[in-house]
Amino acid sequence: MSVRSYLDWNATAPMREEAKGAFAAALSRIGNPSSVHAEGRAARALIEAAREQVAALVGAQPGNVVFTASGTEANMLALTPAIETADEKRPRSRLFLSAIEHASVRAGGRFSREAIDELPVCPDGRLDLAALAAAIANTPRPLVSLMLANNETGFVQPVAEAAAIVHAAGGLIHVDAVQAAGRIPCDMTALGADLLTLSAHKIGGAKGAGALIRAREDIHFPQPLVRGGGQERGLRAGTENVPGIAAFGAAAAAALAHRDGEAAHMSRLRNQLEAGLLAATPHATVFGRDAVERLPNTTLFALAGIKAETAVIAFDLEGVAVSSGAACSSGKVQPSHVLAAMGVSGPLQRGAVRVSLGWNSTAGDVEKFLGAWTKLTSALSKERRGIAA
Ligand code: PLP
Repeated sequence: MSVRSYLDWNATAPMREEAKGAFAAALSRIGNPSSVHAEGRAARALIEAAREQVAALVGAQPGNVVFTASGTEANMLALTPAIETADEKRPRSRLFLSAIEHASVRAGGRFSREAIDELPVCPDGRLDLAALAAAIANTPRPLVSLMLANNETGFVQPVAEAAAIVHAAGGLIHVDAVQAAGRIPCDMTALGADLLTLSAHKIGGAKGAGALIRAREDIHFPQPLVRGGGQERGLRAGTENVPGIAAFGAAAAAALAHRDGEAAHMSRLRNQLEAGLLAATPHATVFGRDAVERLPNTTLFALAGIKAETAVIAFDLEGVAVSSGAACSSGKVQPSHVLAAMGVSGPLQRGAVRVSLGWNSTAGDVEKFLGAWTKLTSALSKERRGIAA
């Protein structure tokens, strides 16, 4: 079987060698990190080292990192009316979400449906800041959730500007940085984020580890999602996933150390891919190209007349893994809520294909992708000519 090209890094990334090493080493630690004996302390040491590495990726204090089992769980933990700060103990009555959030944020955590407001994005796919300001103006203690970069489009959101608006209104802002971390700078102070979510498997760690990071120690959850033990300072009960967390730390350290070089590598390849795609099919739409700041690794494109599921299967048969921009976790292709929020027409929404690159993607992967695309589009145009004749 010929070598496949994996171009679906926004779905999940392969584990980094550093993370595999840390994971394997942790497997031979037998202790429970809560035990006081030497074995327990050795396991605890792995977790605390990882906490420092994960904190460093986002410029936070290690003590403010809460390890969870996924980015989804971190989002669930964050989005609750019961968030206290040193000078505000009253519950937050309303949650404001951008219309393009990931499903794990759109579910609204522990807010009731009626307590959630959706904020529109501009046609360029970025949050409408004027709409944000107007929406929260008359809400005491608003909680706002805005992703740093979108998983389908790769568009980077105006988080620092939004945070300034939210703070001026006396609110808190949660930032889902799952797709952005390791690809663009994610410093919590520069972003103005009060809470920030990460997922290990998107940055080269193992699946099954995530983190919610608080900007300050006084941000407290009196009713954590998972209760019953004192782990994670009482914010997430349950014996820790020691290998997953150790690998998360190693991946975070590598992602931070190599971020700029990897970003330059990915954006070079991404530009080649888009140039080749548009040369082969000049009528294709590459969403956001030259118009908005995007993650360096993500291309979302569509060509009228080609359905996303047809394209994804055709690429797969040619040995190229990409995804439908609108695929949900059940694998079904559904209209994209992200493109719908941007006002993109139905046929282009249903045709959107996402290509996402990573640190070890190669020029060969891009060539293979372009070869498969040319084969697919010329087969379809021959078929159409045949039908017309
Ligand atoms: N947030 C965003 C933007 C994502 O893309 C994802 C996963 O695709 C998640 C959250 C959920 O992360 P996890 O897979 O760790 O639950």
